[in-house]
Amino acid sequence: MHSPNTSGTLPREIQTVVVGGGILGQCVAGFLAEEGREVAIIDAGRPEGTTTNAGSLHVQMQSRFMRMHLDQVPALESGLHLYPKAVEFWFELQRHLDADFGLKASGGLMVAESREQLDFLAKKAERERSLGLDSKILDRDELSQIAPYLGPAVVGAELCAAEGRLDALKANMALRRWVRRVGVMVTGETSVDRVSRDGERFKLDTSRGTVRAATLVIAAGPGSLALAEPFGLTLPVESEPLHMNITEPTDLFMGHLVQHADRMITVKQLSSGHVVIGGGWPADLSPSEDYAVVRLSSIIGNTSLAQHIVPAIGGLRIIRSWAGINTPTGGPGILGPIHGAPNAFLAIPGEAGYTLGPLSARLVADAVLGRRPTEDLAPFSPSRFR
Ligand SMILES: Cc1cc2nc3c(=O)[nH]c(=O)nc-3n(C[C@H](O)[C@H](O)[C@H](O)COP(=O)(O)OP(=O)(O)OC[C@H]3O[C@@H](n4cnc5c(N)ncnc54)[C@H](O)[C@@H]3O)c2cc1C
Repeated sequence: MHSPNTSGTLPREIQTVVVGGGILGQCVAGFLAEEGREVAIIDAGRPEGTTTNAGSLHVQMQSRFMRMHLDQVPALESGLHLYPKAVEFWFELQRHLDADFGLKASGGLMVAESREQLDFLAKKAERERSLGLDSKILDRDELSQIAPYLGPAVVGAELCAAEGRLDALKANMALRRWVRRVGVMVTGETSVDRVSRDGERFKLDTSRGTVRAATLVIAAGPGSLALAEPFGLTLPVESEPLHMNITEPTDLFMGHLVQHADRMITVKQLSSGHVVIGGGWPADLSPSEDYAVVRLSSIIGNTSLAQHIVPAIGGLRIIRSWAGINTPTGGPGILGPIHGAPNAFLAIPGEAGYTLGPLSARLVADAVLGRRPTEDLAPFSPSRFR
């Protein structure tokens, strides 16, 4: 159980308000406060959002898009170049905060169990190479050299060099400390019910009273849909409850992030020895629809599949299962200024949003500060949804 956080008095007037205290909200707020901005985060729940995620650092496209959502592939490909940069940015942030996020980028393997799956991966790798990713196909012999822990059914894999993992608990704690150290006011258990213009400022009607701010950043995951509506935007964001499992710690035996060409799975081992198992297995939404609840069938299905791919997992106890709410956008993230609403910004990262979180937040913070972001934000513009 987490302890509720209602620390700090809700400010009535503030220079910049960030709605949502997930990875995006915290990082945008931290970057702005470091530059002298007066910033408050307001979060409906615990101000760490869905940051209790799997900690996979994704770079290659997850296979389910090419298998199940072909219509989304062109849009996702247009944002693919951000992923390797986002992994590098995690390392930069770790250095900047002088923290230990348990980061490792020793490559990601997407495994195949048949010739057909391997052919699919070969096409995928070729496409990704043409978009600038460092990806190649390994046959079983090559794979056995670098990943002897894989089960006998695996016949080959795509290796994407830039992928990796981090320890989300460590990273979240370090980020929380940083945000407070640089003076961000953080208020939890306070929902923003409505946002409107009040002259030059924004007026936020919250469950604990009214807040006025000169600059507004909406980083509220699925809650952004309602908050962006007054600006004439209909965002394609959804609430997707997802399930995760983690094992007891054991000796370090696997160095890669492992996924599958045809099935939903991510497996990797943290430096603490725990093996984290996820990959998009479903959880349930609570009746109030504001938190996710674990599903027994996902505990069984997700861990059985993990054991099939990495047999050593079979000897380990599952010590915890949890669920969180993901925010799919059906394409790249939604980042940057809301045109027609001066000083209002959106910060929604898109697929694998934890990987993209800090870099996306840096880009939005630069836009807030009136600087030219290091990446062109046009493909991520909120105006796509006007
Ligand atoms: C189980 C799970 C595992 C995942 N694993 C990975 C992974 O391994 N790698 C990866 O890259 N990505 C992963 N993801 C995706 C990633 O966690 C998310 O994309 C990312 O955390 C989104 O961050 P965010 O800050 O945009 O939103 P969130 O973390 O959802 O934060 C939004 C915040 O806004 C608040 N909020 C919403 N509405 C309001 C309102 N009206 N008023 C006030 N506050 C409001 C919410 O309370 C919430 O705290 C995973 C997601 C889940 C659910």
